[in-house]
Amino acid sequence: MAVGRYAPSPTGDLHVGNLRTALLSWVFAHRSGDELLLRIDDLDPRTSSADHEHQQLADLDALGVTFTGEPLRQSARSTAYEAAIEALDSRGLTYPCFCSRREIREAASAPHVHLPDGAYPGTCAALSFAEREQRADGRPAAVRVRAEAAHVTFVDRVYGRQRVLVDDFVIRRNDGVAAYNLASVVDDSEQGVEEVVRGADLLDGTGRQVWLRHVLDLPYVAHAHVPLMVNTEGVRLAKRDGDVTRRELQDLGWSDERIVRTLLHSVGVMSSSLTEAVEAFDPDALVTEPTVWSVEG
Ligand SMILES: [Zn+2]
Repeated sequence: MAVGRYAPSPTGDLHVGNLRTALLSWVFAHRSGDELLLRIDDLDPRTSSADHEHQQLADLDALGVTFTGEPLRQSARSTAYEAAIEALDSRGLTYPCFCSRREIREAASAPHVHLPDGAYPGTCAALSFAEREQRADGRPAAVRVRAEAAHVTFVDRVYGRQRVLVDDFVIRRNDGVAAYNLASVVDDSEQGVEEVVRGADLLDGTGRQVWLRHVLDLPYVAHAHVPLMVNTEGVRLAKRDGDVTRRELQDLGWSDERIVRTLLHSVGVMSSSLTEAVEAFDPDALVTEPTVWSVEG
């Protein structure tokens, strides 16, 4: 048994990669007769909108991706996020970071530093009070955890055993908003989520969430990453690629049944509906390679 969740950001129409992850989240949750919960990742008020949310939920509903209960809204959860940040802070597991994106990029690409892509090089980890004052120079600080390059291991239901290095990642952005990984683990715990299905592009970052759950003493969550949808150049699919949203496919004459069938088949689930997929579902048989999305004219 595994309660699942799907957590869209209401920042635009869902594309077929997002829709396929939603379909698979539903199948994963229902294969054991369990529930799929909804979380609205509307942490960023500048990019989230009610219109986008309505369209996303309408698309999901039309494809049969139904949810149990009321959604959890991240925009209403800042108190819980701050409590978690405070808990880490009180144990000396945080520090302020004043780096700009550019500084991080340049430090990380220095030839003598060996870190995975996107990892924080630790520039602000050991600053004195005076150095912090100087680095701040009026800029607001982000808050990072002191993970000290911990290695974590976890077993992904689709991609198998993973061993990843956890960098000092951000838990509160410098605009004061809780960062994705922090919000996500706090909310999964609140909702009683037991299994998270999400895109394989996030696989490298999952170690950060595993680490956070461990230090915050939050319940274990199983992970299942599902393959990425890419465009014909092999780049992660985006809305600008065209013919990728439900509305665009409808304009080309696609029915909802065809969208569901095509997306399931694209990942090796050879069923023609969600209910059929649940009966025959075998996570081990899922395709793990990225899928190239192209609609024949
Ligand atoms: Zn920094």
